[in-house]
Amino acid sequence: MSPDPHTLAGRISAEAGLEFEGSEGRDGEGRRWLELHPAGHPKARTFAIRATVGWRRLDVQLLPGTFAGNLIKAMGTADEMARITFSAVLEKCRADGADVDFMVNGAAVMDDLLTAWSSPWRSMDLVIRRGMLRINDGDEESDNRLIERWTTRIAAAVLALLPLEPHDTAISEADAQGLPEGAKTQITVNRYERDRRNRAAALAIHGYACKACNLQLDTLYGDAALGLIEVHHLTPVSELGPGYIINPRDDLAPLCPNCHSVAHRRAPPYSIRELRAFLSRS
Ligand SMILES: [Zn+2]
Ligand SMILES: [Zn+2]
Repeated sequence: MSPDPHTLAGRISAEAGLEFEGSEGRDGEGRRWLELHPAGHPKARTFAIRATVGWRRLDVQLLPGTFAGNLIKAMGTADEMARITFSAVLEKCRADGADVDFMVNGAAVMDDLLTAWSSPWRSMDLVIRRGMLRINDGDEESDNRLIERWTTRIAAAVLALLPLEPHDTAISEADAQGLPEGAKTQITVNRYERDRRNRAAALAIHGYACKACNLQLDTLYGDAALGLIEVHHLTPVSELGPGYIINPRDDLAPLCPNCHSVAHRRAPPYSIRELRAFLSRS
């Protein structure tokens, strides 16, 4: 039965810059779930992302491991750019009709998600629930797309909060003592992966269709072009002041390679509006 968890893991790994492994199973009510967790790390010390397919509904949940306390603590100290990225992705999920249940230290974080960082984190829960979906009624390809879209979103949100750089170890040496060699682990993202996380968040928010010509390349080329899209800075990075915090919702836009090339034939680049005007001439 599709989607298979390995394909889903492969797709999300490629986009996230963090390797995931996939598994699947059924819950007590017979509903199928697909689960992803960071490859090569014990699940108990990191996290899993589980998508449960119900009748016309999809629940995607972040499941922190039983011993993931240090990772959660680290996510609770994420910097402002990470918080804004996390919030922007989840706000988009809400705008698309999902319920976002986000709890920190057992208390629900209501409207303004940025208030979640007002005190240190000991625990966190995150579930995105989307009902009224045309899912699980026979069209597997459309089911796959929905599962992928919503799983990618929660993955992009969580990735934004993962600690950057090896020094910000998610799991301290002391905590790792008593574990077999190789089980000592840390989930961190190199600083150069920042752009990649921004890209993942921008695509989670804006989707994979070009903002100028509306083309999504895999509808034209099939799987060979799956995920092929470029992310454009609406204001050139060189013009942003030092310390400017990029919001993937407002500052980034997906463009196909053609439109992106045309945009950069002028400096400063042509705007999306100008690109659309060029296209409407033909
Ligand atoms: Zn385009
Ligand atoms: Zn660009």
